[in-house]
Formats: sequence, C-alpha cells, structure tokens
Amino acid sequence: MLRRYGQRVHKITVSADFTCPNRDGSKGRGGCTFCNNVSFNPSGRRPPGIGEQIASGRSVIRKRTGARKYIAYFQTYTNTYADVSRLAELYDQALAEADVIGLAVGTRPDCVPDAVLDLLAAYQQRGYEVWLELGLQSAYDDTLERINRGHGFADYQSAVRRARARGLQLCTHLIAGLPGENALHCRTTLERVIELGVDGLKLHPLHVVKGTQLANQWRRGEYRPLSFDEYVQLAADLIEQTPREVIFHRVTATASPAILLAPAWCSQKWSVLNRITRELRDRKATAARGVSDSGFSSAQDCNRSPDRCRALAGA
Ligand code: SF4
Repeated sequence: MLRRYGQRVHKITVSADFTCPNRDGSKGRGGCTFCNNVSFNPSGRRPPGIGEQIASGRSVIRKRTGARKYIAYFQTYTNTYADVSRLAELYDQALAEADVIGLAVGTRPDCVPDAVLDLLAAYQQRGYEVWLELGLQSAYDDTLERINRGHGFADYQSAVRRARARGLQLCTHLIAGLPGENALHCRTTLERVIELGVDGLKLHPLHVVKGTQLANQWRRGEYRPLSFDEYVQLAADLIEQTPREVIFHRVTATASPAILLAPAWCSQKWSVLNRITRELRDRKATAARGVSDSGFSSAQDCNRSPDRCRALAGA
C-alpha cells in the first residue's frame, strides 16, 4: 500500500448485518466448529449504517496510526450473501466516503456467483482497490467436513478460476492447527493454493473460543491446539515456502480474552509477530528478504517509527 499509494492505507472493518449460509440452513446448520457466531455481534443489535461505522473507525484509526486513506473491510459473516443489487448498495455506501479507496470483501468460496464477481471487477475497473478474501482454511475435504465448513476444495478452485479470469486480487484465509492436521497438511494446502494462483494470504492459528463445538472437543480432550513454538516454526516454514510476490496480510490472529479458551498465547499478537520475524531472521532469511525484527509492541510503535514500518512493508 505504501508503494502503491505513497502513504499508509488502513482497513476499517464494517459489518453489513449479513448472515452465513452455513448457519441459516442453505449450506448447513451450526456453522464451522470453531466459529463463535455471537462474537461477531456481542450486543445482538443491528449494526449502524456503513457511513457511521466508517466515521467511527476512521476517528480511532486516524488517531492511532495517522492513516488518511482507508479500505472498507466487509468482514463479519459472509459478505456476498445477498442480492447483487443489495451488495452494490452497501459497497457504494462505503465507497461514497472520499477517503475510502477500496473494498476488501470476506466470503466463502461457495458464495461468489459470477454476478458478484462481475460487480467487484467493475469497482476494480473504476480504479478502486478491491480484494476478494476467500475463507478456505484447508485444501483437504475430509478436514473441511470435520470442521463443518459446508464446502469443499472444488468450490475454492471454481471461485479462484472465475475471480482470476476477471483480474480480481485474491486473498485466501488459511488456518494452522486444524483438527486432524499436521504441518504437512498445512504445507500441502499452501502448495495447492499457490498453484491455483493467489495474491495474498491470511494465516492464523486455530484458537478455541467459548460457545463453539471446538470448545466442547477441547474440553473432552479431543482437540489439542498448537503450542507457541509449533506455530512459530510452522508459520515461518509457510512464509518461506511462499513466493515473494504473494503478500501476507496477516500471520496471526487474536481473540477477545472474554471468549478465548486456548491457547492463551493467542491473546498476544505482537509477541507472536516478533517471534516469527526473529525466527525468519535466525534462518538467515533476513539477508535474502530484508526483513528485520520489528521490535514493535503495538501499532503506535509502528506509527512512531514510520521509516522502519516502511522498511518492513517494503520487505
Ligand atoms: S463460514 Fe464463516 S461465518 Fe459462517 S460459520 Fe464458518 S466461520 Fe462462521
């Protein structure tokens, strides 16, 4: 973003009050085994309008990071799960804000009909920054079934081919530490994703949160999350395996302490990020990639050291 726009660009998360076909019965019921549906909307109230959400996100992010340009990130639930005319209305509301330069739309691979892809491609052709974010998690159908995703790898293949035929930028979400999987599964999933073509990746360790089927499996001793060291090693392996031009949008994730059950280290985003960076440096990746330990402990640190932040972004 720094290279492309000459300045920091920050995502503002918006919720458009969608639901998910894996919850309402059209694809499945109960949702993915790790998904705490309540955590998307703890108040249970309808979210405010898109413009209002952007205004409140902007005021926080601008103070915290100094960013002046934003991407509206439609994150919660399945953000293509509506009529195309309704989607256009919502996306247009976000893009009506002068400092919003694009959209990131998170969805499921089985929920992107051609008409939706055409709509997103039209925004891109008008000069907006558009990212389609597909939740794949694993390329193994038996894993997808085990976690009750309600789609298979073939759905992802079809979505990717159709999105790439339209020139859309694609970011794929992957999870490490899924039940029944080991490091080899993760590496093979990544290999298959790269083979098909991808522009960005989001990786995070599976964490157990309250109110999920996974929490019950964890309590019964049927699921063991990755340890901190296991995740750091695996994340570094996957980063090294990834071609340089594919951008990692995220290499860990956190959950609110109010709902996080395990592993506890998932609550410490910056220590995970710094350990992965250090691991890469220790593997002598630094010289090849120009990556250095950020030494940051918060986004404010990043903002206070824009040159180092820029150096990292350029790495
Ligand atoms: S597809 Fe996404 S929103 Fe739907 S149940 Fe799974 S994780 Fe939750």
